[in-house]
Amino acid sequence: MEPREFTNIRGKLNKTQKEISQLLGTSIKAIHSYEQGWRTIPAHVERQMFYLAFQRLEMSKKQKSCWQITRCPRSRRDQCPAREFKMYKLCWFICGTLCQGIVHRTWKEKMVFCRKCPVFQPLLKVASSHE
Ligand code: SF4
Repeated sequence: MEPREFTNIRGKLNKTQKEISQLLGTSIKAIHSYEQGWRTIPAHVERQMFYLAFQRLEMSKKQKSCWQITRCPRSRRDQCPAREFKMYKLCWFICGTLCQGIVHRTWKEKMVFCRKCPVFQPLLKVASSHE
């Protein structure tokens, strides 16, 4: 996650640095460092920020299931943790999904993939726009 994306999401949540630090269970100093680019934004913080934005903006109401958007074949869908945990609209939140038949070893690897995926585009749009 880029510092600008973090700041944009915090803005959409209408939270101060102090308020978002409490939500994320970290220090104000850490938040300031993330937004200044002095510290890399850790995977767990990136995941939480996207999740908070997804929930707060009620994006699940507008979002189709991952398997509908990606036309995921039933045989793969039935093996995928997104199905097991009923996370068709939050597939990006968990690791181990079988998108395109590939299991990503790390959150970082997975996010490279998700950031190119149509399922994740609405959230990226939220993170990339300042309005
Ligand atoms: S690549 Fe990511 S966003 Fe796309 S379907 Fe897979 S888990 Fe979901």
